[in-house]
Amino acid sequence: MSTPISEVHDARQQQPTGEAGTQQIIVQKFGGSSVSDAEGVKRVAKRVVDAQSAGNAVVVVVSAMGDTTDELLDLAAQVTDSAPAREMDMLLSAGERISMALLAMAINKLGASAQSFTGSQAGMITDGIHGKARIIDVDPHRIRTALGKGHIAIVAGFQGMSRATNEITTLGRGGSDTTAVALAAALEASVCEIYTDVDGIYTADPRVVPAAQKIDTISSEEMLELAASGAKILHLRCVEYARRFGVPLHVRSSFSQHEGTWVIPSADDKITTQEGVALEQPIISGVAHDRSEAKVTVVGVPDIPGKAAAIFEVIAAAHSNIDMIVQNVSTQGRNKTDISFTLPIVEGAEALAALHAAQDLIGFESIDYNEQIGKLSLIGAGMRSHPGVSATFFKALSDAGININMISTSEIRISVVTHADLLDEAVRVIHKAFDLDSDSEATVYGGTGR
Ligand code: ADP
Ligand code: ASP
Ligand code: MG
Repeated sequence: MSTPISEVHDARQQQPTGEAGTQQIIVQKFGGSSVSDAEGVKRVAKRVVDAQSAGNAVVVVVSAMGDTTDELLDLAAQVTDSAPAREMDMLLSAGERISMALLAMAINKLGASAQSFTGSQAGMITDGIHGKARIIDVDPHRIRTALGKGHIAIVAGFQGMSRATNEITTLGRGGSDTTAVALAAALEASVCEIYTDVDGIYTADPRVVPAAQKIDTISSEEMLELAASGAKILHLRCVEYARRFGVPLHVRSSFSQHEGTWVIPSADDKITTQEGVALEQPIISGVAHDRSEAKVTVVGVPDIPGKAAAIFEVIAAAHSNIDMIVQNVSTQGRNKTDISFTLPIVEGAEALAALHAAQDLIGFESIDYNEQIGKLSLIGAGMRSHPGVSATFFKALSDAGININMISTSEIRISVVTHADLLDEAVRVIHKAFDLDSDSEATVYGGTGR
């Protein structure tokens, strides 16, 4: 019987048991930098076997080795500039299959027993949208059977299968985190451990801000904002999924034994100290940055009702996800305005083609397209009750001579777009302005940051 747990349906009916015999199930996910070469695979194998020896039933989700996914994308681009989405998923899903089999071999070599499973064998059922499929069902009966026989189950992350099309799908970049949480929810695991190349979630990306501080606990609300603002330490959908199903998430390094960061399910839950004393939320939880977006400016749009709607209908029909939007004040007497917005660079070409096709209908003059931008976001639930945050934020950027192209805010976030070349400096300036800098340097154990 399948387990009705999905990203798109809220129904959580009969759950499978969280015990394999009398054991707790734990799910461990290892990212690409943790398994970047044979030595990495062996190191991870040892860690997994140790977790089993400690008395757990262990399910492992593994990503493609190192920068394999990027290398496969580069390869495809050398072959064609219009790869069919189906073939792209066949190609990219191969990356995770390599690491799952190698990890299973390494574990068997250590004397424990492991079996690897593709996403589809592990029961990751998705819709049929190639490249950004959503999980609609998780049916991990083969994983439960493997655990019942005392095996360690290794699952290829980032992939699934559509029952509607019978095709292999992928979940979108960084999607192995979501595979891990979905399995943890379906198996009622006691914890989902996300192993990566830094010691946990920091107040900023430690590759950009060496003085970033490790956060011990963060609410899922703040982690959602960080992930949505580009902090790629966790896949956004994994955080949403974990919150919805109450999966405890522990983000930590596969290169050290240090305790990492716990993502706690709700902002309402009090963050407690080790002595059990409830603390106020910190004002600021961190700074995120994002280089994956481009800015589109539609120039000379007739300043009459319905034109913004027409533009965004065209963009929506091209399946683009718009982020920030700014409409300039229309120039006196000209009755024209400019509308700017940001969207993922990977969706840029399709959106531009759709807009150009609708130029006569909408009546705009031209389009500017700029990929040399970066977005910086300051996030903190405590911002709600601290009015001085915006003033400090904008003063710090102005003192550093950093020009702002766009601004957007939410209750717990301020985001700005700057020139791409100024982004790293802007992140460091804001981190310092909010007293987030620590005296010690954060350790980055591996990875290329690609
Ligand atoms: P994995 O291959 O393990 O999935 P990722 O590269 O996807 O690893 O994510 C880990 C990286 O996320 C870190 O190496 C770091 O550069 C980056 N990162 C971005 N924001 C943060 C943050 N706030 N805290 C920690 N790491 C961050
Ligand atoms: N290998 C995929 C990627 O690089 C999925 C993942 O690592 O989570 O995006
Ligand atoms: Mg990742």
